[in-house]
Amino acid sequence: MTQQQQQAEGKIIVLSAPSGTGKSSIIQRLMQHPELRLGFSISATSRKPRGQERDGVEYYFISPDEFARRAANDEFVEWEEVYAGTCYGTLRSEVERVVGAGRNLIMDIDVKGALNVKRCFGDRAIAIFILPPNLEELERRLRGRGTDSEETILKRLAKAEYELSFASQFDCRVINDTLEHAADEVGRLISEFAPTDR
Ligand code: ADP
Ligand code: 5GP
Repeated sequence: MTQQQQQAEGKIIVLSAPSGTGKSSIIQRLMQHPELRLGFSISATSRKPRGQERDGVEYYFISPDEFARRAANDEFVEWEEVYAGTCYGTLRSEVERVVGAGRNLIMDIDVKGALNVKRCFGDRAIAIFILPPNLEELERRLRGRGTDSEETILKRLAKAEYELSFASQFDCRVINDTLEHAADEVGRLISEFAPTDR
């Protein structure tokens, strides 16, 4: 396949789950598989960095005013106010950056954003829902991560059941019981769906 064909055919892989389920952990593992040819979609967010997060690595951290200006300027493929007062969105320039480099774009976005991406990209996108084994384990993971305040943890848990109700609208569902199993399963789904170097 020529570089041009690869660019034209780069696929969009969307992962969604309640916060704390393990999306970032799964993506980190998958990024270690060069044959999947993944490029991570760095979202913009109006929230502040957490823990060791760096601007331009996990997210583009921008102010709420800058976020609103870019949204009004139609610079996002999709954006959502995922938590009250906190917005997240995928910049058009980010999709071009990753797909233009001949990679399959992997996104970690909320349930509504994921379904919007499916509407926008159709068969070029696959939407994968990651499920926690149960809500008690989800709470343990959120607390164990040790990066969020009690208030934030409660906000995220309160939203989890609502988010889980979207699972049936996704193309596939994977339970993150052990990280190894979940990452293998998502990797298998990607290699069936997207052009890889295998
Ligand atoms: P998300 O990106 O969905 O918010 P993270 O990847 O940050 O979730 O994972 C939340 C916490 O759960 C982290 O501390 C991570 O190390 C842990 N974790 C992820 N997957 C598993 C798993 N299968 N078993 C136990 N802990 C996990
Ligand atoms: P966190 O603050 O834990 O990094 O992310 C909170 C939520 O925002 C997660 O559900 C994550 O998937 C979602 N999210 C991150 N980036 C985007 C994005 O670009 N668009 C949308 N719609 N949601 C996003």
